[in-house]
Amino acid sequence: MSESTPRSFDVLILGGGSGGYAAALRASQLGLTVGLVEESKVGGTCLHNGCIPTKALLHAAELADNAREGEKYGVNSQLHGIDMTKVNSYKQGVIDRLYRGLQGLVKSRKVHVIEGHGRLVGPDTIEVDGERYTGSNIILGTGSYARSLPGLEIGGRVITSDQALGMEWVPQRAIVLGGGVIGVEFASVWKSFGADVTIVEALPHLAPNEDEALSKGLERAFRKRGINFKVGVRFQGVEQSDAGVKVTLEDGTVLEADVMLVAVGRGPRTADLGYEEQGIRVDRGFVLTDERLHTGVGNIYAVGDIVPGLQLAHRGFQQGIFVAEQIAGLAPQPIVEANIPRVTYCDPEVASVGLTEAKAKEQYGEDKVQTLEYNLGGNGKSQILGTTGFVKLVRVQDGPVVGVHMLGARVGEQIGEAQLIVSWEAHPEDVAPLIHAHPTQNEALGEAHLALAGKPLHAHD
Ligand SMILES: Cc1cc2nc3c(=O)[nH]c(=O)nc-3n(C[C@H](O)[C@H](O)[C@H](O)COP(=O)(O)OP(=O)(O)OC[C@H]3O[C@@H](n4cnc5c(N)ncnc54)[C@H](O)[C@@H]3O)c2cc1C
Repeated sequence: MSESTPRSFDVLILGGGSGGYAAALRASQLGLTVGLVEESKVGGTCLHNGCIPTKALLHAAELADNAREGEKYGVNSQLHGIDMTKVNSYKQGVIDRLYRGLQGLVKSRKVHVIEGHGRLVGPDTIEVDGERYTGSNIILGTGSYARSLPGLEIGGRVITSDQALGMEWVPQRAIVLGGGVIGVEFASVWKSFGADVTIVEALPHLAPNEDEALSKGLERAFRKRGINFKVGVRFQGVEQSDAGVKVTLEDGTVLEADVMLVAVGRGPRTADLGYEEQGIRVDRGFVLTDERLHTGVGNIYAVGDIVPGLQLAHRGFQQGIFVAEQIAGLAPQPIVEANIPRVTYCDPEVASVGLTEAKAKEQYGEDKVQTLEYNLGGNGKSQILGTTGFVKLVRVQDGPVVGVHMLGARVGEQIGEAQLIVSWEAHPEDVAPLIHAHPTQNEALGEAHLALAGKPLHAHD
């Protein structure tokens, strides 16, 4: 806090992560005065310990695979090893540049950053290290932390993504507990860096929240890459020594490795922050809100990972923008959770938006849902890149496309168009006449819609 920091604001925000800072930027753009309380670094998990550093590691991993596989393309390259010090300094350089940019943006929008640990002490008051600040509106965006399992202590060789991101060495053998987004991304990185990796997932599939076709496709691809996984089996215990970890599963399997990454999900950071004392309803730590993200108490809203639903940065951004506009009286449209794009950046990538086939059948009826899979085997650019995979469309009979599901290298880049199709409730017949540039992977989306509209081009009937 500087001398000139005011004590009261139109909008006072607790937490400067994706949700909190997006709300701050939009609110100030709308002419409101904004205070943003942050105890660590503005940018939050996504910028400092999440999206950005993991994607930098995944890019380094892709380069390692390219070096290893160069000969296949007539390029005489060899992978001589991974220098984690340099990988980490490249990764940190990306974070630092973005962080400087974000700090500049926050300053130029005249958002008052209040440094320190904040606590809600009244329906319009947050106390930060003994000082009280008030807001005509309060936004809670305190984010999440890496969860563990009951009795499973993090420490030493048992780590979460927080420690994994700072590792100065590549494990020879790694166990990844959890086959969700964070688990499969780290498994992918470590495999590309040369580790022997085993994923353990209690549910029947890797990427268990995705359409089953994507989960099975990812499993096939991981098998081909030599990434080991055990699904449908639960973790029992771990012992660690100076030499490594010994992990026991409930089916009696014993696995040994240098480290075990615990990637079993993220818990909301809401304990001891005064939320419940102010009458805010909390369920298993998550802050309950209505569809307008209002908590039901005073003018208090919540955004980001503390609100039940997909824990994704772009959801946080959009929720932050939504709440700022709501406060400014712009009556924004509520966010449709199913239309939030989801990308898992492992190799191959997994990208989806809208309903899975199973969910669509639940919602519209078994015989009212039609699906189509377009194989990337028929897509020129995917062949050039040497990737396999597919685009799966889910449509309501004679109705709109309600789900797009993709697997393959770089398919995450195609999620933008997929999102427009699903959000705008386009029919395949609307998309089929739109032109997709050749040769791009984007054509696969176009071809899938051509096929579903009954006029397949590069596809066998
Ligand atoms: C390894 C990893 C990879 C990820 N990859 C992706 C990805 O590729 N794409 C994607 O969309 N999402 C990804 N995510 C998820 C994404 O990071 C989160 O969804 C997003 O950061 C949530 O934003 P938030 O604002 O809710 O919380 P956070 O970003 O966690 O921010 C909360 C902020 O509040 C501050 N804070 C908390 N309590 C207090 C307090 N009492 N006083 C003051 N300040 C406080 C914290 O210091 C923090 O800065 C990833 C997450 C992880 C861990």
